[in-house]
Amino acid sequence: MAANGSTVLDHGVVLRALRSKTTTLSLDNTKIDALPPSLTKLTFLTKFSAKNNSLTDHGLSPTLKSLTKLCAINLGCNKLSCLPVCFMEMPELQNIHLFSNEIEQLDEDVLECLTEVIVLNLNGNLIDHLPPAIASLNNLTTLGIASNRLKFLPQEISHLSSLVELHVEDNQLQHLPSGISQLKKLTRIYAQKNKLQSLNPLISCCTSLRVLDISSNQIQFFPQELGEMKLREFHYELNPLIPFIPIPSSATEEVLPLKELICRRLFTILENDSRLEVIVQSLPEVRDALAQAGKCLVCDGPFVNSWLECVKFIQAKKIILPLRSPSGLIPIRIMLCSYKCLNSGDHDYYGI
Ligand SMILES: [Zn+2]
Repeated sequence: MAANGSTVLDHGVVLRALRSKTTTLSLDNTKIDALPPSLTKLTFLTKFSAKNNSLTDHGLSPTLKSLTKLCAINLGCNKLSCLPVCFMEMPELQNIHLFSNEIEQLDEDVLECLTEVIVLNLNGNLIDHLPPAIASLNNLTTLGIASNRLKFLPQEISHLSSLVELHVEDNQLQHLPSGISQLKKLTRIYAQKNKLQSLNPLISCCTSLRVLDISSNQIQFFPQELGEMKLREFHYELNPLIPFIPIPSSATEEVLPLKELICRRLFTILENDSRLEVIVQSLPEVRDALAQAGKCLVCDGPFVNSWLECVKFIQAKKIILPLRSPSGLIPIRIMLCSYKCLNSGDHDYYGI
């Protein structure tokens, strides 16, 4: 910090705060790279902001450590490379804004101490993974980790049971983890500008979800479960969706592997004769194979490991609550047991 800047701050803003016993202090846009030492006297502060400066990790310590009563801190737009360790000694911290810094990794020990945090804003950093310790933040309602380098989200995200809003846009995510299905309060997911190749069907278990943005990904079609969701906003533009251009199928009946044929036959027999259930339960390999069985939407027959990937097209406004519904057709994934069923013509499913 420049000597002049230090003097101005020590004798200006900080001293005024000391006299008035204010609980809120802003050092935004003050061009500092270190916190003024006099800040250590403001132990009664509950809200502190020093965004839009050049603060480094070294420039925070040991001054920040004195502010143990902080509930909210905003250090956005600085040059921090990690979560400040002194957060571990701020038990009342609820709002943390560290957007637009240079953070690469999240220290697990620090994360484990952030159990009271409600808002964590880490947008615009260099983070390539969320450590499992993220599970400690069970009061978190808003997690912002957009515009980072995430390739995946950990299953431990399922422990964020209070989460309402998730910002993971502009990363490199290839899928959303199944654990997301545990988040019953989750209302808004922003996952645009990633590398999602499909939408996890379990997202339909997020029963509070109303806003889903998965635009600018690599999705070709959506799971059937999309129709069960009560979305008010669904943004899916700029995905390579399968277009509605029907062409006649020239495929004939396929030859199925023997294992598939046996499993399908077994499944049908079991449906009609439950006495065989006991035998199947004693054969783990058969039991596991049959547990994965799906049902053909044309003939209602079973399939296990071999099926025909198809789509049906439905109007977007049938999926999204009308308020701001887009128009157009959305391809939904359908699985059929065979070309015979696809070619039967008694349906509006299309092979892909
Ligand atoms: Zn069929």
